[in-house]
Parts: sequence; C-alpha cells; structure tokens
Amino acid sequence: MKKDLRNHTFLLILITVSVLFPLPLYGENSEVTLNTEELLSKTGAESLQWDPFFQSGTLLLGNHRIAFQTGNRGDNSLAIVDGRDLIRIPNPYLENGVLCFPEAFAGHITSALENSVILDADSLRIAAIIIDPGHGGRDSGAVGSHVIDGKTVKVVEKDIVLHVSTGLNKRLTSAYPDKRIIMTRDSDTFPTLEDRVLEAHSVPLKDNEAIVFVSVHANASFNKQARGYEVWYLSPEYRRTVIDKESFEGSSEVLDILNLMMEEEFTTESIMIAQSIMTQFDRNIGSYGPSRGIKAEEWFVVRNARMPSVLVELGFVSNIDDAKLLLDADYLQKLSDALYNGIVDFVGRFERSGGFTQIQ
Ligand SMILES: [Zn+2]
Repeated sequence: MKKDLRNHTFLLILITVSVLFPLPLYGENSEVTLNTEELLSKTGAESLQWDPFFQSGTLLLGNHRIAFQTGNRGDNSLAIVDGRDLIRIPNPYLENGVLCFPEAFAGHITSALENSVILDADSLRIAAIIIDPGHGGRDSGAVGSHVIDGKTVKVVEKDIVLHVSTGLNKRLTSAYPDKRIIMTRDSDTFPTLEDRVLEAHSVPLKDNEAIVFVSVHANASFNKQARGYEVWYLSPEYRRTVIDKESFEGSSEVLDILNLMMEEEFTTESIMIAQSIMTQFDRNIGSYGPSRGIKAEEWFVVRNARMPSVLVELGFVSNIDDAKLLLDADYLQKLSDALYNGIVDFVGRFERSGGFTQIQ
C-alpha cells in the first residue's frame, strides 16, 4: 500500500517535471540546441575560436582541434579533426547572429575523438626541414654595387643566401640526425620555383609528421636608405590548394571549405615559425640593424609548399650598411645561427605541444 502510494507520488512528480521542463524529443524534426558555453561544457573543450568573416570555427580540446563551418540548420557537412580526419556533422548554424550547435554535433565530436587514433604527443614530429636558398645559377637575385674603401664591391643575393643556408644546414644536420635536412640547392645552380616545391613534396610523410620549409633571400630597394631583416609568412587571406584536386572525390564546394580549414592550420604554424625566427634575429643581430618585422605575402615558393613555411629576407644588398654586414663572414655566421635558433625553438614547441600550436 505504502509502496503503491510512493509509486503514484513518483509518477506525479515525473509528470509535473515533464510539464515544467519538457524532456527533449529526439526525432527527425526536433533537436536540442546548445550555445557555445553549453557546447564547451558538454564536450569538455577549452575554447572555441570563431572567424565571423569565413563563418568558420575551431574547437580546441587538449591537443585536438576540430575545424568546422556553419551551414543550413538541419543539414550535414564536414568537419576536420586534427587537420587530418574528416567527419560528417550536423551543421552548426547562426540564428540572429548567435552560434547554435545541434546537440548531436557535440556527440559527433566526442565520438570522433574517442575513435580517432590517439597520437601520443611525443610522437608528433617534424620529419624534415627544407632549406631553400633563393635564386642561383643564371638568376643572381638582387645585386648591390657599392664603393667600399675605394673599391667597387658587388653584393650578390644568390651567394649570400647560399652561404647562410649552408651554415644553417650544417648545424641542423648535426642537431637532428633523425630528421631529413634538405637543401633545394647546395651550389650555384638554378632550381625553378616548381623544382623547389616538388622537392618539398617528395618527402614521404607519416600521419604524425610535418615538414618545415624555410626560404632564404636578401632584399633590394631603389630607396638606398631601406635596410634591415624581415620574415614573411603566407597571407591568411590567400586560399591555398592544400588538398590535391585530383585525389579528392567530393564536391568542389567541400574542397573549398577543406582548403580553408587546412589553410588556417598551416598559417598558424607558419606564423609560429616566423615568430621564433624573428625573436632570434632580434636577439642575435638586432644590434646591427633594424628589424622590419613579420609580414604576410603570397610568395610563390611559400604558398605552394604544403607545409608550414616562411620566407626570410636577411637584409638589403642596396643599402651600404647592410651590404657591409652581408660581406662579412662573421655576420653571415650570426645570420645562420639566428635562423638555426629560430627553427630549433619552433621544432621544440611544435613537438612538445603535440603538433598543434596556438598563437599567443
Ligand atoms: Zn630573393
């Protein structure tokens, strides 16, 4: 008797609760929607980066990154996990400018991470470093002509960058016997830009491996006062074809989205190397000449290399003060050392962070 009453009371409470707080109905046309905060707590993610211009977001969860775009409510699209795996997800969408996530989105993320091969952070590594001394052979690059101590001297970009790159290659080769250190040229030859990019693409990579590409150049300007060093990375606005069009079987729309997502991943890494190299330049040679900072541009060599990549300008051959430095073997050694330290810093941070870094 008492037991029955208890059951009735329980049923009554359940009905009351159901009326006050309707239980979610799972069906074709109904869905529970989460806001960003709810999504974070449901998935355990630390943060969500949102780009309103491209309508794309990245969910950061430990060492994992899940990149997605918004779409039509109720439709499915693709998200990319850790820059590698594709998963089909119910579209996140915007409603009155607010990001909304179908509850199933959270479920898909959680199970994708459970199913994904958990890569040990220690196993993510830089497999190869490609050093690309600019120009060579019949292409001298920038040439400066100056009268120093009564003599006319020429400062030739292709020679300077080869000198610095050779020093860099030597140090990297002895520091990383387990990595492939590759020069796109090691003498006065002229690989085409396509050759240089092909060289980079010919390195076989495992899932947990990445390549760093560093192109070394020197500057020239009609303005003879212009001087200093600078580091370039690929402009985030430029969409590279990171995934081969031939090898992809989805629609071109999907391909664009994937490229955009991969682009962000690689750009972040490129900015990280640029920052590491710039810090070391400031530290090692900052007292000799001005820093012109980190810049973004659509350099051919950089934008076609499917890997985090930077282009370094060592100084201006057209400026007499820079020219004097660039003719000094000790200074060139300092440049090699600064590049070496910058790359080593980046490699250390990349490998320690599990391969996915954030811009501070
Ligand atoms: Zn150049």
